[in-house]
Amino acid sequence: MNAEFIFVGTEILLGNILNTNAQYLSEQCAALGVSCYYQTVVGDNKDRIRDTFLAAWNRSDIVILSGGLGPTEDDLTKETVAEALDLPLLLDQKALDDIRAYFARKGYEMPKINEKQAYIPKGSIVMYNDNGTAPGVICEKDGKCAILLPGPNNELTAMFEKSAKPFLFEKSDCVIVSKTVKMCGIGEGSVDEKIRDLTETGTNPTVAPYAKTGEVHVRITAKAGTEKEASKLIKPVVREMKNRFGDYIYSTDDDVTLEKAVVDLLLANHLTVSTVESCTGGLVAGRLINVPGISEALKLCYVTYSNKAKRKMLGIKKGILEKYTAVSKQVCEEMLKGVSLINKADVVVSVTGLAGPDGGTEEIPVGTVFIGCSVKGKITVEKYNFSGNRSKIRENAVAYSLILMRRCILEYFSEVTFGKEGK
Ligand code: ATP
Ligand code: MG
Repeated sequence: MNAEFIFVGTEILLGNILNTNAQYLSEQCAALGVSCYYQTVVGDNKDRIRDTFLAAWNRSDIVILSGGLGPTEDDLTKETVAEALDLPLLLDQKALDDIRAYFARKGYEMPKINEKQAYIPKGSIVMYNDNGTAPGVICEKDGKCAILLPGPNNELTAMFEKSAKPFLFEKSDCVIVSKTVKMCGIGEGSVDEKIRDLTETGTNPTVAPYAKTGEVHVRITAKAGTEKEASKLIKPVVREMKNRFGDYIYSTDDDVTLEKAVVDLLLANHLTVSTVESCTGGLVAGRLINVPGISEALKLCYVTYSNKAKRKMLGIKKGILEKYTAVSKQVCEEMLKGVSLINKADVVVSVTGLAGPDGGTEEIPVGTVFIGCSVKGKITVEKYNFSGNRSKIRENAVAYSLILMRRCILEYFSEVTFGKEGK
């Protein structure tokens, strides 16, 4: 069984909005084992919507459309699909009552133009909308179906989850399940080499690495009749990955980000943390603060960008800054010590580097970043050479700060020592 998507909206064509519905629906259909071979974006134009819809209807089993279910003149999706399938539009009383109630909750009377949203192609399944006015529709004809969903992402995802997904699940004869093994502190090349036997031979499950900044994710995907059978195919591969990569793996849970893994480590070991940042301008603190629960651990965070701030806030001697310059191992270490003295956090992370584009020299080229971490006074400072533009360099510096924190905490509390690759 295959599906294709049509995203209706001139705003998408013009680049005014990002087509996040495409990403969501693609992921959902893949997980349901519904293959998708085409996606089209079309503007709010009746003839073009009709042509696009008919082309899709002729070649696919399921056509999913998003957008254009609103009350205005340029919301044309439902009218066009009904006409193309030769289905008259009939009033659905519950849909109308729902729309009235939606406005009543907001303290308004329903405007007359919203009435058209309650007209449904004859014989269709109505997907009532809990988050907006437009009901969605599933029209079945000649063994095929068209699924019409509202454009706003929150309405589309809620409606898909509640009504369209169970409908598609019934139709699909297999499910696709995937699990992601998330690693950090190891390069994509090394991972690739170590799992080549799995990536080359595996068709079910398939094994594929994806590189992210400072991280490598390996996605294991299995296809089977039931979720349980698919999970059973995935399990031994995850176990094998754990054998091969050990502590480079920070999680196999979809919801766990690198910062969450670091915060979990801090909390599990009852550690307080402080950050002191120069070139990253507070982004390391920002990523830690992404994680709910960090307030248990986080103490003061510093952004000491200028040399004056490094002197005044952290007490770093003028002589040290002059002798070694701000982008140096010594200053990175002094930043740690300064904060440890003032703040007494168990873990302190410091970052100082040259993000460019100007100011590079032969000894300190753009992209040179020093990252330090102290865990209960045990200090580690590493030098990195990142490439890319200013924002890429800073993004790398943030990721590697988290990676170094994780590594130092693990090394402090266990016998783990990371090899050269662990840097
Ligand atoms: P409304 O009742 O709000 O008019 P609608 O079903 O008619 O909804 P559109 O008018 O096409 O949908 O789009 C309304 C809004 O929904 C857009 O302004 C945009 O914010 C969001 N939206 C539409 N299509 C997409 C998409 N493909 N991806 C993400 N957001 C979208
Ligand atoms: Mg609209």
